[in-house]
Amino acid sequence: MVQHGARAGDTPRHAGLRRRMVQGIRNKGITDERVLEAMNRVPRHLFGFESAFVERAYEDSAFPIGEGQTISQPFTVAYQTQLLCLEPGHKVLEIGTGSGYQAAVLCEMGARVFTIERVRALYFKVKERLAQLGYHTIRCFYGDGFDGLPAFAPFDRILITAAAPTVPDKLLHQLKNGGMLVVPLGKGSLQIMRRYTYYSDAEIKEEVFDSFRFVPMLPGKQG
Ligand code: SAH
Repeated sequence: MVQHGARAGDTPRHAGLRRRMVQGIRNKGITDERVLEAMNRVPRHLFGFESAFVERAYEDSAFPIGEGQTISQPFTVAYQTQLLCLEPGHKVLEIGTGSGYQAAVLCEMGARVFTIERVRALYFKVKERLAQLGYHTIRCFYGDGFDGLPAFAPFDRILITAAAPTVPDKLLHQLKNGGMLVVPLGKGSLQIMRRYTYYSDAEIKEEVFDSFRFVPMLPGKQG
């Protein structure tokens, strides 16, 4: 858990809305209390909402954060995080930093978080936001998530928060033996959540879960 003082812009009213949001996610079937507790600590309304939407930050919806991108729906964040089976101290690579909300949730769960964003403007904003909110240990990178972060591999877990057309091979090879990659996979308007556990190229376990709608994972950097 990250130790914070009182955060500017976070109030008891927001804490109340957050508890209600988390209860809603629990009612939708998320059972990992560590995930729910982490989400109860992250002030979602401070994660780059366009002003027209900030009042709705604790609704269980995705919202625009600029540059044509979105902060994921809280239920989706909870669902992906639960699938990661995180242990404190795990080294985790996130592809698609976006607002930084998911990275903050991972950090609150005690993970060592590395995160990559391909849109330069979002990368600069999120770096500043996470530092301001006290998430000093999250390491942000501007780059193409299809390449991963070979210099920092291997990872215990990799989480892709954009719709991948196929499982990126380079990412599988940046997992530890027994490491897991969670990814919404598919080219159409809906993607199927999948979890891969990597042992060797000859032994990869695949599990298939529910469908979701993500923005696409795109090649190369923007900006
Ligand atoms: N995890 C984010 C939600 C992100 S939306 C959050 O908590 O707010 C998906 C993000 O993935 C977008 O910001 C998009 O720009 C980024 N993205 C898409 N393709 C990418 C790639 N190849 N590498 C890194 N980031 C990518």
